[in-house]
Amino acid sequence: MERGYSIKTKPIYGTLVWQENATHHFLVVAGEGGKALLKLFQQMVPKQATTIFYLAEDDASKKYADTVQKMTGETITICDSLESLLDSVKTALENCYMGTQFYVAGEEGLIWPVAKTLSEFGVDDRNVFKEQTGSLARRVFCVHCETINENVHHDIHQCGTCGLNLIVRDHFSRHWGAYMGFMVDGETPGEIPAAQEVYP
Ligand SMILES: [Zn+2]
Repeated sequence: MERGYSIKTKPIYGTLVWQENATHHFLVVAGEGGKALLKLFQQMVPKQATTIFYLAEDDASKKYADTVQKMTGETITICDSLESLLDSVKTALENCYMGTQFYVAGEEGLIWPVAKTLSEFGVDDRNVFKEQTGSLARRVFCVHCETINENVHHDIHQCGTCGLNLIVRDHFSRHWGAYMGFMVDGETPGEIPAAQEVYP
């Protein structure tokens, strides 16, 4: 990458910090995002109500949820799939009011589906803190067959749907919640550079 060169659409993630003027805190985390949740509660236990959803696809990734529950007595809703998590989030959003602050921590495969769900419910993206944790794997949108490839670790990725070899760009679409992938051998068919693992 060129020095001093950046792409405006590329998301920049921060570190979760309590918004103390919020009336309600709504947190959604997955896997290693649990560590961000734990750090938040080590800062303080807010006086406002919290709603916490935790995606734990296996028992090992539940450890942070257990620690936070023991430490604070907060209730954490644990879900075992992204679909059930998003359904639970939607149900809880029905009872959210102005002044709710949202916090999301996990891999991009969690952050962007949650952000999309929140925006469908009219949540302003500025009220959604995002912390990227765990793997840097990208979600890649194949511009040729318009499907999403999850968990992409390499700069060249064969689309799981149409089979084209895609070069993964830094251009990020908030609509798709994914980076754009373009056919790498458009000009010289069959000439595919070696893939490097750049999103470990
Ligand atoms: Zn494709």
